[in-house]
Amino acid sequence: MKKLIIANWKMNPGSFREAVRITKEEDKSASTARNVEVVLTPPFVFLDSVNRLIEKAKLGAQDAFWERAGKSTGEISAVQLKSIGVKYVIVGHSERRALGDTNEIVRKKFKSVLSEGLCAVLCVGEKDRAKEVAFPPSVREELGSALKGISRKLLGKVVIAYEPVWAVGTGKPESPQNVFEMSTLIRRELFGMFGKKISSQIPVLYGGSVDEKNAADFVSHGRVDGLLVGGASLNTVKFASIIKKVNDI
Ligand code: PEP
Repeated sequence: MKKLIIANWKMNPGSFREAVRITKEEDKSASTARNVEVVLTPPFVFLDSVNRLIEKAKLGAQDAFWERAGKSTGEISAVQLKSIGVKYVIVGHSERRALGDTNEIVRKKFKSVLSEGLCAVLCVGEKDRAKEVAFPPSVREELGSALKGISRKLLGKVVIAYEPVWAVGTGKPESPQNVFEMSTLIRRELFGMFGKKISSQIPVLYGGSVDEKNAADFVSHGRVDGLLVGGASLNTVKFASIIKKVNDI
């Protein structure tokens, strides 16, 4: 299975011109990596232009509303995203949860993305670093709530991103050893829900202050199937290095 590297540009860059520059460079980096699938998730406003520029990278979105169409001013649906070429949608990112996305909202978004045949990247992660419990109850709840009732035939489009909230955008990553433990516990939880065959096919990624220095360690020692990269994905040199290092593992 190819490793998956998803670039979450968040609410960046500030201009269309810069978005074009980053896209061209990151698509070039993607084209040199045979063992890695690269996904660019720009802000909604740049999606269509990014899609016209990419040749190798895949297009992703940072969120999707759960209704298909209608009166939801300011929202964007999975149907609309699909119609312009989006293949992956991040749901339940901690920065969206902080803006009010509850587990119930995440569940509806997750379901709508999968129902359109798109890949849904479900972000889960504990808020605090407290490690008195091996598997934080909040992570179990986030997983259970989103995945409950999802039809088995849609599970092939599910990606889980383990993103401890305290590590996202802080420059303080989790250790590869703890990422290994948490990704194992997440896989065990998926196994309990869906059995071995299906759960072993669901990629589990790590995200949280990944950079060009630690990326390879998360994949080789943390044993994850890929990375969700925020801040470092806006620096095309760092991002190229992350892709290369993971590709060369
Ligand atoms: C993210 O946006 O999902 C993320 C992990 O951000 P950062 O890499 O900046 O911590």
